[in-house]
Amino acid sequence: MDLDVEATEPAVSKETMAWITRLIGLDTTSRDTNLPLIDLVAAEVRRHGVEPVLVPNADGSKANLIATFPATDGSVHGGIVLSGHTDVVPVDGQEWSSAPFTPEVREGRLYGRGACDMKGFVGAVVARIGQIAAADLREPLHLAFSYDEEIGCLGAEDLVKDMVGRGLRPRACIVGEPTGMRVIRGHKSINLVRVDFRGVAAHSSLTPYGVNAIEHAAAFARFVRSVADEFREQGPYDDAFDVPYTTCTVNLIEGGIAVNTIPADCSLHFEFRSIGGVDSRALLERFRTELARIEGEMKAEHPQAGLDVTIVAAAPGLETAADAEVVRLAAAWGGEPSTEKVAYGTEAGLFDQGGIPTVVCGPGDITQAHSADEYVDLDQLARCEAFLDRVIAHLTT
Ligand SMILES: [Zn+2]
Repeated sequence: MDLDVEATEPAVSKETMAWITRLIGLDTTSRDTNLPLIDLVAAEVRRHGVEPVLVPNADGSKANLIATFPATDGSVHGGIVLSGHTDVVPVDGQEWSSAPFTPEVREGRLYGRGACDMKGFVGAVVARIGQIAAADLREPLHLAFSYDEEIGCLGAEDLVKDMVGRGLRPRACIVGEPTGMRVIRGHKSINLVRVDFRGVAAHSSLTPYGVNAIEHAAAFARFVRSVADEFREQGPYDDAFDVPYTTCTVNLIEGGIAVNTIPADCSLHFEFRSIGGVDSRALLERFRTELARIEGEMKAEHPQAGLDVTIVAAAPGLETAADAEVVRLAAAWGGEPSTEKVAYGTEAGLFDQGGIPTVVCGPGDITQAHSADEYVDLDQLARCEAFLDRVIAHLTT
């Protein structure tokens, strides 16, 4: 019986399964530290003779890891980057059929938080560290693992800065987010903004003495919607996307303390995701201009009123040319060519902005990420393994 099952299951190497299992077993939900995972991978890198570069966050509770396996001539410049994030989304409130941090194989799938997004890819890479270290590399191979991708690509900013700052200049980067092993050249930018409206509290019968923070926030929410409508109706459009235009939406609002009190505080979160033809900085300026106008109105009601704008996350979009070398390489390594662009943001835009030509290509389907019973098909992992082996072969003399 067992033999039959094994015969029908795609061949994923034992080392890869062991590493993925180990990585999923470390709960790296974005709100918590990722250091146990980073320490484990760093030890594996060191065991093979390379000292990794750790780029910590401000309070030292998290870190990015960069490991450069030099070419045989000692060179660390150029070469290829394999990149992934180490954090996962929470399992709070989700009903799982098996323990989310204890991976389980059922019917040709590996279940577990991060199996698809993206410890499958990262585990397959880490499982090859010995092979990479032993190879006679013509050019270096860089591993780049980040923190806090799931809350706005926060860690990768410093990761890319470090690589650029050290002049590594890789010629191509693969971000292994789940694409079903398709080679994805484009995605939208993601910009997450929080606005705190500070009004003035008063008894609700005394409206002229207060400044209603909720009403001013609501005025701004209407503005966000009007900009969204404008993009939907007037474009610009890019039909490679499922939603072929820039989107803007208010997703969270909090304000007020009682039914008979004019609210002094209201906080609002909105996001916009822009396509390649839209300048996301100019769009942010447009929102800031409207906020300045609203703040002027608030101050006219009471000089102490006002608002604060916080950019929670700003991850650039990706627009890699169809004829870029990285696109050709990824296809040669077994990635499936695709004209489609994806709606979800990744760290690829940050690498691209750092002058590192990048595509997204990794195992699993994004619709299987983030949900309860997250899984990755074993045959996707097998394809990913073959892809990585071709990357190493490509770099080997
Ligand atoms: Zn991801």
